[in-house]
Amino acid sequence: MTKMIKVLKGTKDILPQEAGQWHKLEQKALEIFTKYGYREIRTPIFEATELFARGVGDTTDIVNKEMYTFEKSDRSITLRPENTAGVVRSFIENNMTRLSTPVKLWYKGPMFRYERPQAGRQRQFHQVGVEMFGIKEPAADAEVIILAVDYLKSLGLNDLEVEINSLGCPKCREEYKKRIKEVLKPEFDNLCEDCKNRYEKNPLRLLDCKVESCKEIFAKPEIQKVIQSDFICEECAQHYKDLKSYLDRLNVPYTENKLLVRGLDYYNRTVFEIKSNNLGSQNAVCGGGRYDSLVKNLGGEDTPAVGWAMGMERLNSLLPDVEPEKLDAYIVCNSPSDAFELAQELRGNGIKVEFDLANKKFTKQLEKASKVAKYALILGEDEIRSNKVAVKNLATSEQISVDRDDVTNHIG
Ligand code: ATP
Ligand code: MG
Repeated sequence: MTKMIKVLKGTKDILPQEAGQWHKLEQKALEIFTKYGYREIRTPIFEATELFARGVGDTTDIVNKEMYTFEKSDRSITLRPENTAGVVRSFIENNMTRLSTPVKLWYKGPMFRYERPQAGRQRQFHQVGVEMFGIKEPAADAEVIILAVDYLKSLGLNDLEVEINSLGCPKCREEYKKRIKEVLKPEFDNLCEDCKNRYEKNPLRLLDCKVESCKEIFAKPEIQKVIQSDFICEECAQHYKDLKSYLDRLNVPYTENKLLVRGLDYYNRTVFEIKSNNLGSQNAVCGGGRYDSLVKNLGGEDTPAVGWAMGMERLNSLLPDVEPEKLDAYIVCNSPSDAFELAQELRGNGIKVEFDLANKKFTKQLEKASKVAKYALILGEDEIRSNKVAVKNLATSEQISVDRDDVTNHIG
């Protein structure tokens, strides 16, 4: 037998029986985001590698280890590992700085990261996300967090925890980085290899390390003292305080987590994650924050921005199964040629209808009808002769004969 080709490790088919949940995620996204003034943007799935090297940051795991990069016509191209960089590129390229602020954009689609596949972690996965450009005030941070919570609630997900932190600005963060490095210096040899590499380049990222032995080090009292210390400058502190008071006023519960630094280089001030207790170890459904320097770093005008992304597979695994919707009607007929026109008329009226395309026996067709549809529309010889249709309600087994032109009125 010819060898079967299988789906690649870390990728998955989304099968028809799962489509209902995906539609729900997508429809609710459109509905809720539109209410907040967001418009959808669709950017290419591959971009110049340099966009991610500069946009995501070359000290990140994503850029160092996880990108799918290939050459084509002497250009280095990368499958997008996330979509903020692509949206920012498009924002700049399409002169969206000229639009009145804020510019609010949302997206959904596949992302690609070469990670170790495990529950909640794939190599091709999907994100839905929002980006808001042009507002530096903390009301923008509050609004995007409230939007995330609103979206999750609209999906029926309530058992979630919002964690927030402030990373300060590049200026005030410098001093904090220095102090973190100092206090971790005696422990350097005990850190994991990743942390050793991060120590010079991006010491804050150490705090995000998931390796148990590193976590134990960070839990030591003298190290905790530095981690928990207030380092942010007055302006950053005011921004953070205002954000918290918005969340308080709008009854959005949150916890503050000083270890929350997020994997990407571009964040400043606000960072946040939303976690679910029902997801096991990959428990973050949403991650985001403020990235005021990214637009400028990618060649645009200085434009503050804030946004988040959610992992759609993780959301999906929290949703209950969605039952597939039944057809309105199934036409039971002697031959397809008897049913085709009626089916097209009904479809034109918005009715979901199928019929047997393969000349199966009447009894088989009726069996199928009762499985897949709410009504059987029987087109026997008598019905054809008298231009009627027998409409059978498959829930009650009630059957009536109606004029062919009147069928639509008897379904529903
Ligand atoms: P994690 O800490 O779980 O690796 P992250 O910080 O890398 O997350 P982001 O880049 O902020 O994640 O992406 C936002 C969301 O996308 C995550 O909270 C998660 O729900 C989802 N996500 C990220 N990577 C994957 C993946 N490999 N497979 C499935 N979902 C993912
Ligand atoms: Mg990650």
